Amino acid sequence: MAALSSPDLTLYDPFARMQLVAPACFLCGTPVDPARDNVPVFAPWLTQRYQLADKEIRLLDQSTSTFRELTIPCCPRCHHAHVDALEARVEAATAEDPAGLRELDEQTLFLWLGKMFYGIFVNELAREQEPLIKPRYPLAENRTLFSRFRSFFQVLQALRVPMHYDDFVPGSLFILDVDLGPDEPAFAYEDDLATMVFSVRLGRVVVIGCLLDNDMLRHVMQRVYDDALSRPLHPVQLAEFKARVYYGAYLLSAIPEFFPRPVKPGDTVLVMDTFLDDVTGSVFSPWDNMAYAQTLEELWLPWQISLRDILQNPREPLSYLYDADGQPRTLTTFPL
Ligand SMILES: [Zn+2]
Repeated sequence: MAALSSPDLTLYDPFARMQLVAPACFLCGTPVDPARDNVPVFAPWLTQRYQLADKEIRLLDQSTSTFRELTIPCCPRCHHAHVDALEARVEAATAEDPAGLRELDEQTLFLWLGKMFYGIFVNELAREQEPLIKPRYPLAENRTLFSRFRSFFQVLQALRVPMHYDDFVPGSLFILDVDLGPDEPAFAYEDDLATMVFSVRLGRVVVIGCLLDNDMLRHVMQRVYDDALSRPLHPVQLAEFKARVYYGAYLLSAIPEFFPRPVKPGDTVLVMDTFLDDVTGSVFSPWDNMAYAQTLEELWLPWQISLRDILQNPREPLSYLYDADGQPRTLTTFPL
């Protein structure tokens, strides 16, 4: 009897035989017909609530897709038992107010962001396989990127396999309030495959995840994060916070690896351990103000703040999160 009710704790590794774009369930590997058996990368409740279905998404090869079209192969069992169940939790938590994202446990939030992020990655890869597309920097040849996604996918499988991360959190998650202008869309997302950073904004609440860092970025950014929580951020301040996340993630030199503990008869949860390969002795490469300023310039593009302005004091790049005395600053309008 016990054997019948024991969950399957076997992990699936689509990276072993490069099945990432095969017609197989992204979670368990069961062969499927992707035209019929798939899940949208952005859940139907999300596209309905924010009227996104026909909105365009631009992919890395500059082709466009829509929120509705962006799907990932998924077997009916994983679809209903795992993906729908996860999405229902997030939908319910945010139905009244997107601030309900804060009520979700860390693993749920990590898996919710992770599912979308992985879905985008697989779609980008599939696009590269099309015969007329010759990407300049093919993802498929980027070994660092692949080993990152392979590690990431192991912990993402908590979506299907009951899993306990032993004494670690696989990613850094930040949830912030932002004060938006009337013209801002109600939904926004940003992904960066190279740094594994993904963010989603539901109304005035934004969640930013660095999805493969064992929570190290949040650890080093704890003070900035605490300060950022003290008031809703102006969008120019949110952009600065994101610049710190992107640049911090870029400096990360140690990539976590994960190891499932051997399963014993009767186990109902797979326990994952982690190991951080920091052969160089430091988790982050040294901070460089010039490189950080360039990241900031890019994120501040909508406000047209030049690199010269940012580096007026080369030792102290321009900040709108903090005033000259290092105190959190409140911005209601910009330009000031
Ligand atoms: Zn499946």
